[in-house]
Amino acid sequence: MLEIDGSRGEGGGQIIRSSLALSLLTGTPVKLTNIRAKRKNSGLARQHLVAVQAVAQLSDAKVNGAALGSSQLAFEPGAVKPGAYEFRIGTAGSASLVLQTILPPLLLATGPSTLVIEGGTHNPMAPPVDFIIRSYAPLIERLGPRLQVQLDRHGFFPGGGGRVVVHIEPVAKFSGLKLRERGGILSKQVRALVANLPKKIAERECHEIRRLSGWEKNSFHALEVPAHGCGNAVLIEIASEHVTEVFVGFGERGVSAERVAASTWQEADEYLQAEVPVGPHLADQLILPLAIAASHGEYSSFRTLALTGHSLTHLEIVQRFLPVQLTTNEVSKGIVEVLFAPQHDSESPATI
Ligand code: ATP
Repeated sequence: MLEIDGSRGEGGGQIIRSSLALSLLTGTPVKLTNIRAKRKNSGLARQHLVAVQAVAQLSDAKVNGAALGSSQLAFEPGAVKPGAYEFRIGTAGSASLVLQTILPPLLLATGPSTLVIEGGTHNPMAPPVDFIIRSYAPLIERLGPRLQVQLDRHGFFPGGGGRVVVHIEPVAKFSGLKLRERGGILSKQVRALVANLPKKIAERECHEIRRLSGWEKNSFHALEVPAHGCGNAVLIEIASEHVTEVFVGFGERGVSAERVAASTWQEADEYLQAEVPVGPHLADQLILPLAIAASHGEYSSFRTLALTGHSLTHLEIVQRFLPVQLTTNEVSKGIVEVLFAPQHDSESPATI
């Protein structure tokens, strides 16, 4: 059984989700210890527990320690069973993060799957579903599988109640992907969303980003969306020839609409100034699928901004499961290229 220490690096939920995804994908039993040791509320939180239950259900896995607050988990996967599944997180826990856990094995399963996931669709510290739809899914499709994601209902923190429907047509093996250039910018869109809050908040966010960016008026949309509770998110989408990036900010009590808009714009602006194709969060999300492609013998690479602690932890985790060689090179100040290559060694790290 492969032992993964959950307190390493970032020490949060990502180690757990990625380890479960890779355990199921490679059929490697895992023991996870010190789960989320670097978080105040360490151990499995509701959202992580749903992810554990979801991967267990997908493969009739043997699981020990799947309880709220648990700091240890033993997971022995069975064969992946594609099909129709519904997962209800029951809180505003992120639907995207549950999807992130079950997606890799289903993208390489023996048949198609349809998933309905209910929970949060727009949560701080998680990929908004718009990011999955506009940025992540098109890149996954370039690896071979079909991945259609539909947002049926918005769910903001803490009300939750959002709904996402996902359709997956798997492949037997991933292709590689090279993302060294962004290419010319094709469109820039800002959508400020409010649910059960004054539309004025969204209008002020649009106004502030317009002031800071100087973009044309028709790039901005202030929208009221239905949801169970109240919520506000501002999304900046930059579509380029080779990639689309989505940056998000969330309204908070006590923080002005202008401040939310300005910090979201700052992230987008750093990305634009750096002229790299891949932003920090997309880098984190691409590590797992591109490492899988490398384990299938395919080379990949992308250029991004300086790697976050999250991404560095992710690079370490995937190499525990997959026979791959991942390297990072600083190509210029603050710009990094990440390279994914198969390991031409007969022994996989999972067996060492
Ligand atoms: P905890 O840190 O409390 O354990 P957690 O399980 O929610 O919480 P993290 O380990 O922080 O998770 O992982 C959050 C994930 O969400 C990471 O993969 C991160 O890249 C991704 N993410 C966070 N914000 C965004 C964003 N704005 N766009 C895309 N992805 C995001």
